[in-house]
Order: sequence, then structure tokens, then C-alpha cells
Amino acid sequence: MGDTPHNPADTLQRRGLMFILSSPSGAGKTTLSRMLLAQESEIKLSVSATTRPPRPGEIDGVHYHFVTPERFQQMVDEDDFYEWAEVFGHRYGTPKGIIRAALKEGQDFLFDIDWQGTQQLYQKDQQDVVRVFILPPSLKELHRRLKARATDSPEVIAARMERARAEISHWDGYDYVIINDDVDVCFAKVRAILAAERMKRARQTGLIPFVRGLMA
Ligand code: 5GP
Repeated sequence: MGDTPHNPADTLQRRGLMFILSSPSGAGKTTLSRMLLAQESEIKLSVSATTRPPRPGEIDGVHYHFVTPERFQQMVDEDDFYEWAEVFGHRYGTPKGIIRAALKEGQDFLFDIDWQGTQQLYQKDQQDVVRVFILPPSLKELHRRLKARATDSPEVIAARMERARAEISHWDGYDYVIINDDVDVCFAKVRAILAAERMKRARQTGLIPFVRGLMA
């Protein structure tokens, strides 16, 4: 094999994007997120800020940005969250400042969040957000997958099925919808969306100088 020819498109400056994957539990979102993070070097999981103390093994800046309640409140006051919530007595939020600075440098972020979080993010930053919804091939198959986990009681599975129906009803709040019949086929579709979205003209901030050079 000879040298790979230099492709200017690979080095062009571009703005990062916020890639949202949502689905009812059991439709494959977690598997797809893991595959994406493992195979796409330019995307990373968004790191939330929290007031919860770190658990053993958790690293500041990797699992969470661990902050004091005072600092969290200050960030709320300064409107530095895309969204935030209180869960079991601790506060969690997606910090705007950190993400915006990284987007400018071309860093992509993956968000594994539900339809409500998606709506909040979209309201605050429409130009950077790409919303992808994963559907199960059928409710019967979803039920089978939830049962196959074998960790939950029938009552818990029934509650998850109910929640799944509610989540599915928000499918029309997304830019792309994929039916996850086969996880490898579904993953190829997710990557195709990511590749195409990266090429959007508005995101390719390096195009103006590139074209200027081309025409000179
Ligand atoms: P844990 O303390 O177990 O890491 O997380 C507790 C809960 O907080 C989980 O349900 C998780 O989804 C939620 N959570 C983590 N980060 C955020 C965030 O940035 N925003 C919101 N709304 N919830 C979060």
C-alpha cells in the first residue's frame, strides 16, 4: 500500500456538535453509546457537574466535575447549565461553559439522555444539537430484551414497559429515528448520521479560508 493521499477535509477546522441518543430502556441506547465512544475518537461523553461526593474510584473531571453546593448554586445563578436536576438530595447539571469552549475547538459530545433533557438542551442550543431516537422493532421484542436481563422482577419489567411507551410517544421531537432491529446495522446508521452532520457547511468553520485559498 502506498501513502494515503492528504485529504484537506480531514484537517479543516470545524465546530463540534452535541449528539443526543435517546431511546426507551432496552432499545439499545447504552450499547450504541459504548460502540460510538469506542470507535469514534472525536466524540466524548459529556461530563456533568454534581454536588454529590465522589465514590471510590471516581475521578474529578472524568466521571463528574465534583463541586460544592455553593459553587453549584453560583453556576445556576450565572445560567451556566443547559439543564440541571436534583436527584436523591444531590444536584446534577450539564455545564454550558465547559461544553461551549470545547465545541469551538471541534470537540463532539455524546448525550445519553431522555426526551425531557433533549428538549432542554435543544431549547438552549439548536445549532449544535443533533437528536437521534432509537426505536425497538416491536414492543414484544422490547419486553423480551428487558426480560432477558433477568435482573428485574415482573413488576419492575411491567413498570419499565410502561415508561418505554411514554418515552416512545416523544419520537417526533427528534431529527433522526432509527429502528434497532440489528445492532450492527443500527450502529452503521448512527455513524452515517454523525459523519453527515460533521460535514454541514455551518459546522465547517475552516471552509472560508480553504475556499479562499482554492480560488487564489
Ligand atoms: P449517580 O449519583 O448515581 O451518578 O447519578 C444519579 C442520577 O443523576 C442518575 O439518574 C443520573 O442519570 C442523574 N444525572 C447525572 N448527571 C445528570 C445531569 O447532568 N443532569 C440530570 N438531569 N441528571 C443527571
